[in-house]
Amino acid sequence: MTDNILKPGRYINGEWNSVHKEWKEGVLKVALCFPDIYEIGMSHLGMKILYGILNQEEDVVCDRIFAPWSDMEKKIRLGQAEFLSLESGRRLKEFDIIGFSLQYEMNFVDVLNMLDLGGVPIFSNQRSGHDSIVIAGGVGVFNPEVMADFIDVFVVGEAEEAILEIVSVVRSWMLDPGCWRTKALEELSKINGVYVPISSIQHPVSSIKKRIIKNLDTAYFPTNPIVPYIQIVHDRIGIEIMRGCPHRCRFCQASKIFQPLRIRSVEKILEITSRSVENTGYEEISLLSLSTCDYPFMEELVRKLEERFRALGVKISLPSLRVETFNNDRMPGIVKRAGLTFAPEAGSDRLRNRLNKTMENEDIIKKANLALKSGWRKVKLYFMLGLPDETYEDLDAIIELSLQIKSVSLSINPFIPKPHSGFERGAMDDVNLLKDKQRYLLSRLNAKPSGKRIRVDFPVPEMSVIEAVISRGDRKVGGLIYRVWEKGARLQAWGECFDYKIWEECFTECGIDPKDYLKKRLDDEILPWSFVEA
Ligand code: SF4
Repeated sequence: MTDNILKPGRYINGEWNSVHKEWKEGVLKVALCFPDIYEIGMSHLGMKILYGILNQEEDVVCDRIFAPWSDMEKKIRLGQAEFLSLESGRRLKEFDIIGFSLQYEMNFVDVLNMLDLGGVPIFSNQRSGHDSIVIAGGVGVFNPEVMADFIDVFVVGEAEEAILEIVSVVRSWMLDPGCWRTKALEELSKINGVYVPISSIQHPVSSIKKRIIKNLDTAYFPTNPIVPYIQIVHDRIGIEIMRGCPHRCRFCQASKIFQPLRIRSVEKILEITSRSVENTGYEEISLLSLSTCDYPFMEELVRKLEERFRALGVKISLPSLRVETFNNDRMPGIVKRAGLTFAPEAGSDRLRNRLNKTMENEDIIKKANLALKSGWRKVKLYFMLGLPDETYEDLDAIIELSLQIKSVSLSINPFIPKPHSGFERGAMDDVNLLKDKQRYLLSRLNAKPSGKRIRVDFPVPEMSVIEAVISRGDRKVGGLIYRVWEKGARLQAWGECFDYKIWEECFTECGIDPKDYLKKRLDDEILPWSFVEA
């Protein structure tokens, strides 16, 4: 089945710590689906948490399934391979619950594709009787309307507790052959944080309030994560040390979605880290949170991790740092000094202040150069293009700032005013303006007198515009996604697969003007996501 397939390790089974349970009558079957390829999905902590929670349940079988790469899909469509769950080798339509993790809007097309490959009707109103219940969670459901025609049940917020409540309702439904599907959906809609978008169901509340777990120390954490055969994007142990962020940058959707701030204790982190290292053999631990350096007991934590793991050769990596709280002197030898990443977002202090970001250029330059001197290999800076109130002087400031750092690369992404962020009603630059600004920045970089080479990554602006239309979309945009899927678009998050021409054709066919989704929204306008309380 995997002959002539790129990376067959994406589709084989039996990795270390994967769970295989007996597929038998009376057991609830859940498929955890990630609408992107194995290497991305296997790097996602949320998948690991839900896989662990569900497989702890005696009468639940929980399998994983990922989107196939195009070579594998071709084989499946030709009947030369099958699209099956990894653990039990079953088709999606054989599962009672199909759960999608929606993390990125550009993956939405692949939700439809996976349902189709799995033999499940794509539209929720085409599912009947005891057909699988299709649920979705993740940051992508904070505007659920876009996917409302395809998903039976949305879980808004943190799913650790809600998933077991859902399992319990679906289990009762499965055991009662006389119970109507609509009745089961109605019961599910009564669970806090759950949104069932079928018009025949009157939701008991007018808004959906996200679920949160109160205490990270008592929350489940997967200490025996699966160790893949192939290299994945985050090929290390990820330990979540904090959830939420103490800052409120105005453009940031994540800080709102994940608020309030919750902190895992040093003792708990040490305990779960020790068990994870023992159970996997990994030699690198990543300390995860939206802003790792804001962890209030960082010095104590890193010192204790060093005491415990130094002799084993285990290294610690810190993925997300803020200049204000980064202190190289507080980082002992166990901290991996590979790439140091800061996100100034804007080139000038003036514009950064407007974003509610407090870091200053002087501090960024000083700390980045000090870090480079003391062993960090390179510095990467993240900026956004098209921020509200941005001027060409702010773009010049990106170049001036970068030139003052000895070894630096830049990632400059179009600004997208995301739902639930402080700019959710703001406008986004269109493709032409974004391209003009990219050209301007490149010309300024090439004109610099120092002859210094600076690597710059610009994502394709067209892709960012599609991401914006989907993230700010309504049910009409769901129709667009369906048409784009029908016309053959797949894996649109991947530059080599992204096909803007198909999107353009479908905009016309569906009567959608992307500008309507990029424009400024009035203060009294009801937004598609207004009923979701983040
Ligand atoms: S951008 Fe980073 S630091 Fe700012 S609020 Fe969001 S997560 Fe926190």
